[in-house]
Amino acid sequence: MLSGIQGKTALVRVDFNVPLNSEFQITDDTRMLKALPTILNLKAQGAAIILMSHLGRPLKKKLDNGKVNVETFTLRHLVDHLAKLTDSEVIFATDCGGEDSILKARDLKPGQILLLENTRFTEEESKGDVDFAGRLANLADVYINDAFGTAHRAHASTTTVAQFFEPSHKSFGLLMEAEIANAQKILNSPKRPCTAIFGGAKVSDKIKLIERFINFADNIIIGGGMAYTFIKAQEGSIGNSLVEDSHLDLARDLIKKAAEYDVNLLIPEDSVIADAFSADANTQIVDSNNIPDGWMGLDAGPKAIEKFKVAILSAQSVIWNGPLGVFEMEAFAKGTMEIANTVAEASEKGAFSLIGGGDSVSAINKSGHADKVSFISTGGGAMLEFLEGKKLPGIAAIEGSAK
Ligand code: AMP
Repeated sequence: MLSGIQGKTALVRVDFNVPLNSEFQITDDTRMLKALPTILNLKAQGAAIILMSHLGRPLKKKLDNGKVNVETFTLRHLVDHLAKLTDSEVIFATDCGGEDSILKARDLKPGQILLLENTRFTEEESKGDVDFAGRLANLADVYINDAFGTAHRAHASTTTVAQFFEPSHKSFGLLMEAEIANAQKILNSPKRPCTAIFGGAKVSDKIKLIERFINFADNIIIGGGMAYTFIKAQEGSIGNSLVEDSHLDLARDLIKKAAEYDVNLLIPEDSVIADAFSADANTQIVDSNNIPDGWMGLDAGPKAIEKFKVAILSAQSVIWNGPLGVFEMEAFAKGTMEIANTVAEASEKGAFSLIGGGDSVSAINKSGHADKVSFISTGGGAMLEFLEGKKLPGIAAIEGSAK
């Protein structure tokens, strides 16, 4: 991250997209806490700090009269908590790059924080508008992007704005640096054996990820709804389980490629099945390739979980993205929670572990073992795309510059 910026004004894109309750109180401040190291570093350097972030999707949830619902989506809700967390004076600008921002940025003193209004109150943000980005850039001397969670979006505040700063005047923040460094630990020469665990609803969302990991992982665990496309592709009877019939050939190709590359592809051999997609459905445990009509696989079964555990505990590096079952319902949460516990156990034994994706992160938090894993990513979609090998616009806009 940039250093030696005493007396300068830093424009910092953070991800303060925190959940609020009906009284607009913050119910989970994790995202704010994650941005703290960068903010406190800048404060210690003696920089004046301008923070900008989105909060929710205000343009998708406009009022009946077509206006933006400022009361719900204003970042003003965060001011008091931000002041407490940073032990700093926090000034609020009622616009984002407009007159109020300009006046308040001009008077900003080292160590003070100016929080701009929601970047997404204008559609110029998501369009990556150059004029809007230019107005933001004019507020400050240097630009720092610490919002990994939105790095996959080519928005004005995450990407376009960077073009207004010389390479020596822009950098990642500390959180972005950590996200990139930890993902690269898995992608570039991971400690072997390497076990990748991919779950979730659809194969189509994870194809690129699976393809990429087949190139270097030792074990790939496929769980969740997408496992049934693989099971059907091998002529299994999957009853009413989730399936993407248009991806059966692709599943067969991935199975073949895994064998060619000597990758141990683990598909759940048994499943917890239910006669309805419901928390109080009747359940039973059967082999995953023998699911009766009218029943659907909603979680990994005990034999599958045992095999998954062996693959995880034997690994020196582990990556996990996506739940192993419908973990939102208690009856189908066991597979996911066992994976969370086992990834934590492997980490305690010295494996490097990276968890990315909203559902896997909530599972590890729920397990009470979050402190044991090596790195928990703040970027769901962004981490997925980074691991797939895509160049994220928010990263590309900074890269090649001084760090
Ligand atoms: P994704 O967004 O693709 O990571 O998928 C997450 C969702 O997949 C969660 O809401 C899970 O409930 C769902 N899911 C996991 N396993 C299954 C399954 N066997 N059948 C249907 N949905 C599932």
